[in-house]
Amino acid sequence: MAFAAIHPEVGRIDATLQDLGCGLSWAAVYKVRPRIPLSCPDCGYGVHTKISTRKLHYFAHDPGRPAGCAWLNESLEHHLLKLELATAVRAADWHAELEVRAPDGTWRADVLASSHDGTRRIAWEAQLSPITNDDIRERTERYQDNGIDVCWVSPADGVPWIGTVPSIRKKQAARVEFDPAGATADYAYGIAVYLRRPLYGILRPSPAFLHRLPPTVPVFVRNAREAQLITAPGKIDPARVVHFDLPDHEQMSLI
Ligand SMILES: [Zn+2]
Repeated sequence: MAFAAIHPEVGRIDATLQDLGCGLSWAAVYKVRPRIPLSCPDCGYGVHTKISTRKLHYFAHDPGRPAGCAWLNESLEHHLLKLELATAVRAADWHAELEVRAPDGTWRADVLASSHDGTRRIAWEAQLSPITNDDIRERTERYQDNGIDVCWVSPADGVPWIGTVPSIRKKQAARVEFDPAGATADYAYGIAVYLRRPLYGILRPSPAFLHRLPPTVPVFVRNAREAQLITAPGKIDPARVVHFDLPDHEQMSLI
Protein backbone atom coordinates (compact mmCIF):
# COMPACT_ATOMS: atom_id res chain seq x y z
CA MET A 1 0.00 0.00 0.00
CA ALA A 2 1.39 3.38 -1.04
CA PHE A 3 0.24 6.82 -2.07
CA ALA A 4 2.86 7.47 -4.75
CA ALA A 5 3.52 5.67 -8.03
CA ILE A 6 5.49 6.21 -11.21
CA HIS A 7 3.36 6.75 -14.32
CA PRO A 8 5.11 5.80 -17.61
CA GLU A 9 4.28 9.12 -19.29
CA VAL A 10 3.90 11.80 -16.61
CA GLY A 11 6.29 10.41 -14.00
CA ARG A 12 5.49 10.52 -10.30
CA ILE A 13 1.80 10.64 -9.39
CA ASP A 14 0.29 11.21 -5.95
CA ALA A 15 -3.00 9.56 -5.00
CA THR A 16 -3.62 12.09 -2.22
CA LEU A 17 -3.96 15.01 -4.65
CA GLN A 18 -7.07 15.81 -6.67
CA ASP A 19 -5.03 16.09 -9.89
CA LEU A 20 -2.50 13.43 -8.83
CA GLY A 21 0.05 16.27 -8.75
CA CYS A 22 0.30 16.31 -12.54
CA GLY A 23 -3.04 17.43 -14.01
CA LEU A 24 -4.52 13.93 -14.31
CA SER A 25 -7.67 12.74 -12.56
CA TRP A 26 -7.93 9.54 -10.50
CA ALA A 27 -10.41 8.30 -13.12
CA ALA A 28 -7.63 8.52 -15.72
CA VAL A 29 -5.65 5.83 -13.87
CA TYR A 30 -8.19 3.87 -11.80
CA LYS A 31 -8.96 0.51 -13.39
CA VAL A 32 -8.54 1.85 -16.92
CA ARG A 33 -8.20 -0.59 -19.81
CA PRO A 34 -5.71 -1.24 -21.18
CA ARG A 35 -4.01 -1.06 -17.85
CA ILE A 36 -1.39 1.68 -17.35
CA PRO A 37 1.93 0.13 -16.26
CA LEU A 38 2.38 2.00 -12.97
CA SER A 39 5.35 1.15 -10.80
CA CYS A 40 6.46 1.56 -7.18
CA PRO A 41 8.80 4.54 -6.61
CA ASP A 42 10.80 2.50 -4.14
CA CYS A 43 11.29 -0.95 -5.67
CA GLY A 44 10.19 -0.38 -9.27
CA TYR A 45 7.76 -3.32 -9.15
CA GLY A 46 4.33 -3.01 -10.77
CA VAL A 47 1.51 -1.45 -8.74
CA HIS A 48 -2.20 -1.05 -9.38
CA THR A 49 -4.83 1.46 -8.24
CA LYS A 50 -7.17 0.72 -5.37
CA ILE A 51 -9.86 2.41 -3.29
CA SER A 52 -10.15 1.38 0.35
CA THR A 53 -13.40 0.84 2.21
CA ARG A 54 -12.75 4.26 3.74
CA LYS A 55 -12.66 5.72 0.19
CA LEU A 56 -8.93 6.25 0.36
CA HIS A 57 -7.17 6.22 -3.03
CA TYR A 58 -3.91 4.30 -3.00
CA PHE A 59 -1.62 1.94 -4.88
CA ALA A 60 -0.94 -1.71 -4.11
CA HIS A 61 1.87 -3.91 -5.38
CA ASP A 62 1.01 -6.53 -8.00
CA PRO A 63 1.15 -10.15 -6.81
CA GLY A 64 4.64 -11.60 -6.38
CA ARG A 65 6.24 -8.31 -5.36
CA PRO A 66 9.74 -8.24 -3.84
CA ALA A 67 9.81 -8.60 -0.06
CA GLY A 68 12.34 -5.80 0.40
CA CYS A 69 10.18 -2.85 -0.59
CA ALA A 70 10.03 -0.20 2.15
CA TRP A 71 6.38 0.68 1.59
CA LEU A 72 5.07 -2.87 1.70
CA ASN A 73 4.58 -3.63 5.32
CA GLU A 74 3.22 -0.39 6.57
CA SER A 75 -0.01 -0.41 8.51
CA LEU A 76 -3.10 1.52 7.57
CA GLU A 77 -2.54 3.59 10.71
CA HIS A 78 0.87 4.61 9.40
CA HIS A 79 -0.58 5.55 6.04
CA LEU A 80 -3.35 7.62 7.59
CA LEU A 81 -0.86 9.49 9.74
CA LYS A 82 1.24 10.23 6.65
CA LEU A 83 -1.86 11.49 4.91
CA GLU A 84 -2.67 13.78 7.84
CA LEU A 85 0.85 15.14 7.82
CA ALA A 86 0.76 15.81 4.07
CA THR A 87 -2.61 17.54 4.47
CA ALA A 88 -1.23 19.72 7.27
CA VAL A 89 1.84 20.63 5.23
CA ARG A 90 -0.34 21.63 2.28
CA ALA A 91 -2.66 23.60 4.58
CA ALA A 92 0.42 25.56 5.64
CA ASP A 93 0.96 26.38 1.96
CA TRP A 94 4.04 24.24 1.56
CA HIS A 95 4.58 21.62 -1.09
CA ALA A 96 4.25 18.03 0.22
CA GLU A 97 5.40 14.84 -1.46
CA LEU A 98 4.70 11.43 0.04
CA GLU A 99 7.12 8.52 0.16
CA VAL A 100 10.20 10.22 -1.21
CA ARG A 101 13.47 8.36 -1.49
CA ALA A 102 16.91 10.00 -1.79
CA PRO A 103 18.53 9.30 -5.18
CA ASP A 104 21.37 7.52 -3.36
CA GLY A 105 19.05 5.78 -0.88
CA THR A 106 20.48 7.47 2.24
CA TRP A 107 17.03 8.62 3.42
CA ARG A 108 13.42 7.82 2.72
CA ALA A 109 10.86 10.38 3.88
CA ASP A 110 7.23 9.63 4.69
CA VAL A 111 6.32 13.21 3.77
CA LEU A 112 8.84 15.64 2.31
CA ALA A 113 7.73 19.26 2.73
CA SER A 114 9.34 21.98 0.60
CA SER A 115 8.99 25.74 0.79
CA HIS A 116 7.74 27.36 -2.41
CA ASP A 117 11.09 28.88 -3.23
CA GLY A 118 12.63 25.43 -2.84
CA THR A 119 15.24 26.60 -0.34
CA ARG A 120 13.93 24.66 2.66
CA ARG A 121 12.91 21.07 3.09
CA ILE A 122 11.45 19.29 6.12
CA ALA A 123 10.91 15.56 6.34
CA TRP A 124 7.87 14.61 8.44
CA GLU A 125 8.26 11.08 9.71
CA ALA A 126 5.34 9.10 11.06
CA GLN A 127 7.21 6.87 13.49
CA LEU A 128 4.85 4.24 14.84
CA SER A 129 7.25 1.38 15.43
CA PRO A 130 9.76 1.39 18.29
CA ILE A 131 13.13 2.91 17.49
CA THR A 132 16.12 3.47 19.76
CA ASN A 133 17.28 6.97 20.64
CA ASP A 134 20.59 6.24 18.91
CA ASP A 135 18.89 5.13 15.70
CA ILE A 136 16.55 8.09 15.56
CA ARG A 137 19.40 10.50 16.26
CA GLU A 138 21.47 8.91 13.50
CA ARG A 139 18.60 9.17 11.04
CA THR A 140 18.07 12.80 12.07
CA GLU A 141 21.74 13.52 11.39
CA ARG A 142 21.51 11.83 8.01
CA TYR A 143 18.75 14.23 7.02
CA GLN A 144 20.68 17.19 8.39
CA ASP A 145 23.78 16.14 6.42
CA ASN A 146 21.60 16.40 3.32
CA GLY A 147 20.32 19.87 4.25
CA ILE A 148 16.88 18.59 5.31
CA ASP A 149 15.21 19.33 8.63
CA VAL A 150 13.17 16.54 10.13
CA CYS A 151 10.30 16.28 12.57
CA TRP A 152 9.34 12.89 14.03
CA VAL A 153 5.69 12.30 14.81
CA SER A 154 4.25 9.68 17.12
CA PRO A 155 0.67 9.14 18.23
CA ALA A 156 1.72 7.09 21.27
CA ASP A 157 2.18 7.89 24.95
CA GLY A 158 5.54 7.48 26.67
CA VAL A 159 7.69 7.36 23.54
CA PRO A 160 11.29 7.67 24.80
CA TRP A 161 12.67 9.70 21.91
CA ILE A 162 10.09 12.51 22.06
CA GLY A 163 12.11 15.62 22.93
CA THR A 164 15.50 14.02 22.19
CA VAL A 165 15.13 14.86 18.49
CA PRO A 166 12.77 17.39 16.84
CA SER A 167 9.49 15.66 17.46
CA ILE A 168 5.79 15.98 18.10
CA ARG A 169 3.32 13.69 19.76
CA LYS A 170 0.16 13.84 17.74
CA LYS A 171 -2.67 11.97 19.34
CA GLN A 172 -5.38 14.55 19.13
CA ALA A 173 -5.83 17.49 16.85
CA ALA A 174 -2.78 19.67 17.27
CA ARG A 175 -3.19 23.33 16.62
CA VAL A 176 -0.98 26.35 16.57
CA GLU A 177 -2.96 29.12 18.20
CA PHE A 178 -2.39 32.79 18.50
CA ASP A 179 -3.40 34.15 21.88
CA PRO A 180 -6.22 36.64 21.18
CA ALA A 181 -4.93 38.82 24.03
CA GLY A 182 -1.60 39.18 22.26
CA ALA A 183 1.83 38.17 23.47
CA THR A 184 2.19 37.45 27.16
CA ALA A 185 5.23 38.21 29.25
CA ASP A 186 6.06 34.53 29.65
CA TYR A 187 6.39 33.90 25.98
CA ALA A 188 7.22 37.46 24.87
CA TYR A 189 6.89 37.29 21.13
CA GLY A 190 6.69 33.51 21.26
CA ILE A 191 3.49 31.68 20.41
CA ALA A 192 2.36 28.76 22.54
CA VAL A 193 1.53 25.53 20.75
CA TYR A 194 -0.96 23.29 22.53
CA LEU A 195 -1.97 19.72 21.95
CA ARG A 196 -5.24 20.53 23.68
CA ARG A 197 -3.34 20.30 27.02
CA PRO A 198 -0.54 20.33 28.03
CA LEU A 199 1.70 22.76 26.26
CA TYR A 200 3.88 20.91 23.78
CA GLY A 201 5.87 23.53 22.00
CA ILE A 202 6.70 27.18 21.67
CA LEU A 203 6.94 29.01 18.40
CA ARG A 204 9.66 31.65 18.31
CA PRO A 205 10.29 31.96 22.06
CA SER A 206 11.92 35.14 23.25
CA PRO A 207 15.64 34.56 23.86
CA ALA A 208 15.25 36.54 27.09
CA PHE A 209 12.78 34.02 28.49
CA LEU A 210 14.37 30.76 27.41
CA HIS A 211 15.06 29.78 31.03
CA ARG A 212 11.30 29.62 31.66
CA LEU A 213 10.65 26.99 29.03
CA PRO A 214 10.05 23.44 30.19
CA PRO A 215 13.27 21.52 29.48
CA THR A 216 11.95 19.20 26.79
CA VAL A 217 9.31 21.06 24.78
CA PRO A 218 10.16 21.54 21.12
CA VAL A 219 10.93 25.08 20.05
CA PHE A 220 9.54 26.11 16.68
CA VAL A 221 11.34 28.67 14.56
CA ARG A 222 10.72 30.09 11.13
CA ASN A 223 14.23 30.53 9.82
CA ALA A 224 17.91 29.99 10.49
CA ARG A 225 18.29 33.43 12.08
CA GLU A 226 15.66 32.66 14.70
CA ALA A 227 17.26 29.26 15.33
CA GLN A 228 20.62 30.96 15.83
CA LEU A 229 19.14 33.54 18.26
CA ILE A 230 17.59 30.80 20.35
CA THR A 231 20.47 28.33 20.44
CA ALA A 232 23.31 30.86 20.78
CA PRO A 233 22.88 31.46 24.55
CA GLY A 234 23.49 27.73 25.04
CA LYS A 235 20.28 27.04 26.98
CA ILE A 236 18.47 25.26 24.19
CA ASP A 237 19.81 22.08 22.65
CA PRO A 238 19.69 22.52 18.83
CA ALA A 239 17.98 19.09 18.69
CA ARG A 240 14.89 20.71 20.23
CA VAL A 241 14.59 23.28 17.45
CA VAL A 242 11.97 22.52 14.81
CA HIS A 243 11.87 24.67 11.70
CA PHE A 244 8.33 25.54 10.85
CA ASP A 245 6.46 28.18 8.92
CA LEU A 246 2.98 29.32 9.81
CA PRO A 247 0.49 30.53 7.27
CA ASP A 248 -0.67 34.11 7.69
CA HIS A 249 -4.13 33.19 8.80
CA GLU A 250 -4.75 32.56 12.44
CA GLN A 251 -4.16 28.92 13.03
CA MET A 252 -3.02 25.75 11.43
CA SER A 253 -4.64 22.44 12.14
CA LEU A 254 -2.44 19.37 12.08
CA ILE A 255 -5.24 17.16 10.90
ZN1 LIG B 1 7.58 -1.31 -3.89
